[in-house]
Amino acid sequence: MAQTLNVDLGLRSYPIYIGSGLIADPEFYRPHVRGERVMIVTNETVAPIYLDSVKAALADYHISEVVLPDGEQYKTLEVWNRIFDALLHERFARDCTLIALGGGVVGDMTGFAAACYQRGVPFIQVPTTLLAQVDSSVGGKTGINHPAGKNMIGAFHQPLAVIADTDTLETLAQKELSAGLAEVLKYGFIRDLPFLAWMESHMAELLARDPSALGHAIKRSCEIKAAIVAEDELESGQRALLNLGHTFGHAIEAGAGYGTWLHGEAVAVGTCMAANLSQRLGWLDEGDVERVRRLVSSAGLPTDPPADLSPERFLDLMSVDKKVLSGKMRFVLLKALGDAIVTSYVEPDLLYATLADRCP
Ligand code: NAD
Ligand code: MG
Repeated sequence: MAQTLNVDLGLRSYPIYIGSGLIADPEFYRPHVRGERVMIVTNETVAPIYLDSVKAALADYHISEVVLPDGEQYKTLEVWNRIFDALLHERFARDCTLIALGGGVVGDMTGFAAACYQRGVPFIQVPTTLLAQVDSSVGGKTGINHPAGKNMIGAFHQPLAVIADTDTLETLAQKELSAGLAEVLKYGFIRDLPFLAWMESHMAELLARDPSALGHAIKRSCEIKAAIVAEDELESGQRALLNLGHTFGHAIEAGAGYGTWLHGEAVAVGTCMAANLSQRLGWLDEGDVERVRRLVSSAGLPTDPPADLSPERFLDLMSVDKKVLSGKMRFVLLKALGDAIVTSYVEPDLLYATLADRCP
């Protein structure tokens, strides 16, 4: 049984299917595949577990596949080019469909390849990590990293459908599950205090992968993301709220070298830092900040940046972040729990104090 949500973007609208047993069911692909030829893009970890199921579901089509190396450190121009090598080698024309089978790295790279191949071909997201099911597969942001900054090269390109099979989460490493929970928490912090309270009382079930708890968390997360994306597809305003914790988080990821920190772990710390700064601005009180840290930590996530990342280095890394608009840093901060805002001015000494703050 699948729950279906719609991402409402006029002609570019598409469904998100969430449920158990979807990945091998042709019904979820058939309405969305264009042309006779399908290129499945996946990686060397996911392929042995799920590629055959997806191929079985697509048995009516001519299927090709490209299996990329696994890891954020391979989200590069060179590795991305292998998708084009495969498409061109096999003489794919424009009437084809790309399928992204994997986590956010595969999804972002495949989506960006779909945006560029012969000036744009359709693609379907089949996310297999919690993070990808609640966040990266929805909303059309695609891209790759540059040594100078994360996701610096990319495009907006919406998928034709998102097929989120919750059974796939059973094989996910516990650390990866927690990283996904960081993005789930994010939706509560920015927009939905009752959802945050629900997470507080269901964290044990979520960590134990209780299917109904995970199903609810994924659905609510996708509803909030879909609503924000529908309001502001190209991030001229509200969509930036989804970057809560990300300005600090990206600096941590880049500073440590891609692949060292999980994205969700870095976002978790970034969220605690955003709460810290929000308290300095007088918006949150100590109890709120404690609640943020407790929730993050109960999800199995870190709350503090690495000790060796100095405030100076932090500032340096943050200034190449793409959330910097016309030379000014933009921050997503919390007016209250469940109510985030975007602001471009923060007093430098308050920012510095947050960057220098390390919990004893
Ligand atoms: P990931 O894609 O690296 O996947 C995490 C790990 O889990 C990998 O080793 C992967 O091979 C493995 N894996 C995937 N599915 C599995 C399964 N079902 N069972 C066992 N192992 C499995 O990481 P991620 O957390 O999914 O995504 C992070 C990426 O997403 C980052 O590059 C980030 O920039 C991007 N992202 C993009 C958006 C967006 O809007 N486009 C939003 C958030 C994050
Ligand atoms: Mg993210």
